Formats: sequence, structure tokens, C-alpha cells
Amino acid sequence: MIDLDDPLINGYLRRLIGEDGITLIRNMPEGEVTDEEICNVLNPLKTQSKEADDKVKKLKAEIKAAGENQTDVKKLEKELKKAEKEAEKAKAAAADEYEITLNNVRKILFILYENKFTVCRRERDANSGWLTFRWQINMDGIDYQIEREKKKLYRNLIKRKEYEDSNVFYVCPQNCLRLVFDEATETDFICPICGEDLIFEDNELFKQLLDNRIAEFGEMPK
Ligand SMILES: [Zn+2]
Repeated sequence: MIDLDDPLINGYLRRLIGEDGITLIRNMPEGEVTDEEICNVLNPLKTQSKEADDKVKKLKAEIKAAGENQTDVKKLEKELKKAEKEAEKAKAAAADEYEITLNNVRKILFILYENKFTVCRRERDANSGWLTFRWQINMDGIDYQIEREKKKLYRNLIKRKEYEDSNVFYVCPQNCLRLVFDEATETDFICPICGEDLIFEDNELFKQLLDNRIAEFGEMPK
């Protein structure tokens, strides 16, 4: 299993699938599971509440079916009362539980699938014809993905540094925009949005910050 608390891995996954996605990976049941099974695991109190409601429904149906049989009905009604009390308790407990919806679970699984972090097996029910998707997480490719991300970030930083090095910038004091010299001459050094005079921007500090970020990468294959 990967270390989800590793800052690089955690940051990468958070951008990809958000905090809910990390929670999903952390709590993913063993083996192949359906999206609904994952959803139940992620929302334990809501699942308990749903199960308690189902029990109430089942008992009500049983009472109906028992009909004239008074002994059975009495026994079942006693059970029903208890079940209703429990269902109410479970509902109250679940009310404040943070919810990760089934829709969100599906979205996360799909993004993971696109990035080859899940294996999915389709199974068709012989009777109903329904398709069931069974999911399994496989994060083996994460090191490779993170290496790729790092290279991309590094390339962007180098590009940005070159851009900052080879241009002179003018900005609006109201922060409307930032123009390179040629663009600023076209507007006569006046902000086209608010009309204020543009001022020269010293970008030395920003370039220094870029250099520091680039240096953090150390030796990096391009
Ligand atoms: Zn302006």
C-alpha cells in the first residue's frame, strides 16, 4: 500500500480526486467491490440508519402477512416497536455524518480508472441482464505518475523563468492587469480597464522565488 500521508503523493491525489477521494482510497475494502459497497463503507452511520429503516419495513410487511394469527402479530409488533426506536436513534446519529455520495464515489472511481489506478471487472447477471462493476484499487503506477508531474512542473517553472527573464513588465496600480513592454506601448502605458497610468514592475523578487523553486528540484532530467 502507498503512503497516503507522503506530501507528494497526498498533494498529487488531492488535485486529482480531492479529499473525498483520499478518504475513499484509505477505506477501500479488500478485494473486488461495487460502488455501492464502497459508498456504504464511507458512510457507516448512514448505512446503519438505512439498514434500521429496512428492518422496520420488513417487520411491517411481516405483520401484514401474519394476518389473523394473533400470537405472531403480537410478537412482531413488539419487535417492530423496538426496531422503530432503533431506527430513530440511528437516524439521529447519522444526521451529522459527513456524506460522500454514491455519485461522488462513481466520479472518483472513474478518475482513478482513467489514470489506471483502478481495475474494473464487469459482470452481467444471467437473470436480470444487469451489469455490475467490481472495482479494485491498484496504486502501483503512482511513483511513475508523480515523477511525470514533477517533470511537468519543472518544465513550467523553467519556461516561466525564461519568460520573466526576457521581458519587461508594466502593471496597473489597481491590479487590473500585467502587460509586457510591447503591449504597454500599444495602450500608451494607460490601463485599458480602469484608465490609471501603468507602472514599471520590478520582477527581481519573483525571479528569485522561481530560481529557489527550480533549485529545489536539484538534478532533474528534462
Ligand atoms: Zn487598471
